[in-house]
Amino acid sequence: MAAVIESQHLKQAALPGRYVAGAALHRAGAVSDVEPGYGGTCGVVTVTDGTAYEVWIGVRHRLLVAECDCPDAEPEAATDQRLASVARDRAAAPQLCAHGVALGLAALDRQLSWAPAPRTDAETVDPSAALNSLTPSEKARVLDALLDSNPELLERVYKLAVQALDLPGSARHARGHSSGGELRENTAAAVRQALLGLDIDDMRTGYRPGHGYTDECEAARRLVDAALEPFLADLTRRLGLGLTSAAHALASGILDGLRACEGSYDGDQVLCYAGEDLEEDYGYGVRDRLRTAGVPLPSGD
Ligand SMILES: [Zn+2]
Repeated sequence: MAAVIESQHLKQAALPGRYVAGAALHRAGAVSDVEPGYGGTCGVVTVTDGTAYEVWIGVRHRLLVAECDCPDAEPEAATDQRLASVARDRAAAPQLCAHGVALGLAALDRQLSWAPAPRTDAETVDPSAALNSLTPSEKARVLDALLDSNPELLERVYKLAVQALDLPGSARHARGHSSGGELRENTAAAVRQALLGLDIDDMRTGYRPGHGYTDECEAARRLVDAALEPFLADLTRRLGLGLTSAAHALASGILDGLRACEGSYDGDQVLCYAGEDLEEDYGYGVRDRLRTAGVPLPSGD
């Protein structure tokens, strides 16, 4: 909103007696560093005892207002609240302190624009909606930025990171005997879904230059290996961190998932070509990783 502001508006908006005091300050050259900012005008008003007030003046809710840290100016929250109600009944209560008046007169001298700065999209967006709409990788960048500027949060975030990968309450369980039920069940369900969801149209069979001849079984095995790879990578990651209980639960879940596929497919599905016994054929890599890490699955799992 562009507004034509004249000295009479400053007079109307000033607290009793402050227009005269402000005009005197202005005449005495008390106002310096006048420049446009924050949709209005910023400046410094230095009074006779040497106190320098940083002042802003501008138009808000159709009212001429100033911000100043002198005793005359009200706390901003209260001012905003009052402005909102004032704006509703369109009655302008005087608010300007002498410093606001002085800066306003200096701004008039310099013919600075009173137009509020255009609001950016970032000022109007709902921040909580923005946070909720972030993708995981965007959330990760937000976390990185937060930790960069608030390193004191690191210790708490470290703990949360461990909690995210460990089993709940695994410290209370003897090593290798943690329940891990939820992780195990979720993993089994995810493995089963990944394998039964393999598409036979993705099987690449036949001769390819540089690769030789690929039969159905080999093509199917490649697809199964690729589908299991993220689970094995997760297993390696948790083993590397020493989260043995979680690794055991994850490994058991992968084996459960392989087992659960048996009898669930028929006809023209990738798993028909992937082997006789899925747990036997593909569980080996799981058990092998645990053995290599020195924490083999307890027998019976
Ligand atoms: Zn003031």
